[in-house]
Amino acid sequence: MKKIVILGGGESGVGAAILANVKGHPVFLSDSGTLKAVYREKLETNNIPYEENNHDRARIFEADLIVKSPGIPDNAPLIKALTEAGIPVISEIEFAGKHTNSVIIGITGSNGKTTTANLTYHLLKTAGFDVGLGGNIGHSFAEMVAVAPHEYYVLELSSFQLDGIEYFQPDVSVLLNITPDHLDRYDYKMENYIASKFRIIKNQEEEDVFIFNTEDKNIVDFLKNKELLPNGITVKMQTEDPSKISMDGEVEFDLTNTTLKGIHNRFNAECAIHAALSQGVSAADIQRGLEGFKNSPHRLEVIATIDGVTYINDSKATNVDSVYYALQAVEGPIVLIIGGVDKGNDYGAILPLIKEKVKGIVCLGIDNEKIKATFSTIVDEIVEADSMEMAIKKSCKMAKSGDQVLLSPACASFDLFKNYVDRGEQFTEIIKEFKS
Ligand code: ADP
Repeated sequence: MKKIVILGGGESGVGAAILANVKGHPVFLSDSGTLKAVYREKLETNNIPYEENNHDRARIFEADLIVKSPGIPDNAPLIKALTEAGIPVISEIEFAGKHTNSVIIGITGSNGKTTTANLTYHLLKTAGFDVGLGGNIGHSFAEMVAVAPHEYYVLELSSFQLDGIEYFQPDVSVLLNITPDHLDRYDYKMENYIASKFRIIKNQEEEDVFIFNTEDKNIVDFLKNKELLPNGITVKMQTEDPSKISMDGEVEFDLTNTTLKGIHNRFNAECAIHAALSQGVSAADIQRGLEGFKNSPHRLEVIATIDGVTYINDSKATNVDSVYYALQAVEGPIVLIIGGVDKGNDYGAILPLIKEKVKGIVCLGIDNEKIKATFSTIVDEIVEADSMEMAIKKSCKMAKSGDQVLLSPACASFDLFKNYVDRGEQFTEIIKEFKS
């Protein structure tokens, strides 16, 4: 039996360790940081040897196969040395994919992965399918394969997970869009990042399905002059009516009574519907699924309406592109809470929407100079806050009945919060206290 070493003891690493163990491989898990208690317990319950805050190189180099956490870059010295020593390094997705014959729907892209994966899973589940949700969200794919197998898996796949595949072959792949992201892991070359995303179709064959965005220049350019093996299904980001989805003029789906607002969510929904239809889900079940869908928190999440003012948590919007879609989706007048750690933002694309819909801005960050300078000529009122409580107080003052207070920061959160989740949770808790 091959000796397997797992590098990284998070959700994916521990899941891979459990799968390796179940399959009878000698397995050892190594993490240079501290493990979360929940993962330590899982390893101990399964009698899987592990180390933390250390990498025992001698023991690691005894491996016949390494399963690496997506958080560890390929150019980390240890990974380079392992590769040079001829020891194969793969991702949890590749490893788990080898041990299942179930139907796999893989979803990737720069934006919209979580929403589309959640929705695809929900549509299959509503239709009574035996389906698991994994990859970047939900449970580890490998752990599900090991201890709670399903007939279908919906996987949210990051480019880092795709980098570590070799034979992984989804039955259905979805490529939503490709915009610059994580370029530090790709030698600052966009073509490397694009190639990484396209690995999702690397092993697809004629009988497989590939759902992709035909309005994304990076996707269209990559596919030029290439023969596409899987069945291509193209989707467009239409702007006409974001509440309707018509399939070849035959069946129509209605998003009016759903939480899927805005043209981006209409697009995500169309991709998820195609994936569900490809697996035989009926139109009636899809419509029912759409109406019962609730996305993960912090994505255009309506928290409450108090005194006629609606409060919306879009803390996940950590770049300008996301704020663009939030402003498209939300009716004005809007009081916008924006700011944090600027990653070199160019706000040009949202200026027209800000002008059209935003009546006031609350800057929530330590350094707000760029935001003030960019918007001061087009928005009547711009104020600053250095805590969520203050930001909400100031928003309340500006908003009148019928307005929407939108937290859509366009920036990372590390100056005032632990992460975007902490930022969104603080927003939600304060609004809920207000309400009671
Ligand atoms: P991901 O998992 O890829 O980060 P999410 O579904 O969590 O994607 O959405 C993250 C943010 O990206 C959302 O706040 C939304 O504003 C934006 N977004 C969602 N879907 C799309 C899309 N199809 N195109 C562009 N932006 C999108």
